[in-house]
Amino acid sequence: MGASVLPRRRWLALAGGLLAAPLWPGLARAAAPGPLFGTPVDLLLPGRLPAGAEAALWQGLARIHQGWNAWKPGELLALNQALRQGQGLRVAPALRQVLQQSAALEVASQGLFNPAIGGLVGAWGFHADRLQPGPRPAASVLAPWQAAAPSLADLHWQGDRVHSRNPAVQLDLGAIGKGVAIDQALDDLQRRGASAALLNLGGNLAVMGAPGGRPWQVGIRHPMRPGLLATLATAGRESVVTSGSYERFRLVDGAPAVHILDPQRGAPVPARATATALVSVTVVHPSAALADAAATALLVAGPARWPAIAARLGVAQVLVVDAQGRAQASPALAPRLHWV
Ligand code: ADP
Ligand code: MG
Repeated sequence: MGASVLPRRRWLALAGGLLAAPLWPGLARAAAPGPLFGTPVDLLLPGRLPAGAEAALWQGLARIHQGWNAWKPGELLALNQALRQGQGLRVAPALRQVLQQSAALEVASQGLFNPAIGGLVGAWGFHADRLQPGPRPAASVLAPWQAAAPSLADLHWQGDRVHSRNPAVQLDLGAIGKGVAIDQALDDLQRRGASAALLNLGGNLAVMGAPGGRPWQVGIRHPMRPGLLATLATAGRESVVTSGSYERFRLVDGAPAVHILDPQRGAPVPARATATALVSVTVVHPSAALADAAATALLVAGPARWPAIAARLGVAQVLVVDAQGRAQASPALAPRLHWV
């Protein structure tokens, strides 16, 4: 994944599944001082932000990136330790909000999006910056996590304090944190009076406004070959978030194991070689947090079940690609796409 700039008049923000190219010359590009959420972060604006405002924006993203990491010391790790020990802990407002929103999304997704399965995600070897090859985790390690069926519904809130009735609840916000961060950054820019912006966080992006009166053109990358699958002219404030089985995986017994788990099976979703899998899911929605959680849930839902889960989650604009490379867009998104 990376970000680059096309020469002269076209800007190109490239990452994960997406490209964005507003055809307007007056744009300024700002890059975060370092990678966030394991990926470069780009901001395109019709003019530069005051230096202090830009620094504050990156700091806001960095706070989420550091505090909500499931394997590095911070707010989330401290909370996981308390939950494991059956202790109550006071939780900061932003974390509390994402946990309560996630609990509702877990229910709506029929448990396919479940940020309480951090124990399983860790056991499968995904709690690391660099994923290492290795053997399949032993059944004796996986089975207890499965049997305990951790859920955000096990969390019991008293004001801003929380404890878990189930010590197997281990929080992992990997499937929604980037979306929350994007929403927060755009809120921040809006408060500062920015009229148009594009923020690209490793292929998960959000836009607002139309620089120079032209909508942002977002390219959705083909998950199976170089180049674009489709482009979309954005309207107002919206996010375009992709989850794919091709992006982040580790070799388990020599075969790719995807970093997205099916909580019901307690195992990674099928890799792209498997006929019954989806290779990528792109969700377009004003809320990047919802789009992020939904993209993960729909990837787990797979080819037969995704429309029903999307309806339950309240996301109408969805594009999926199956293992045969067939792309299918929902009725609400299809008329907006230009196929490449
Ligand atoms: P990406 O981070 O590549 O954008 P996702 O948004 O789909 O991809 O998030 C995947 C991450 O979410 C995993 O790395 C893991 O930390 C966590 N996760 C894996 N499976 C699930 C699941 N079924 N529900 C909630 N979180 C999950
Ligand atoms: Mg997600």
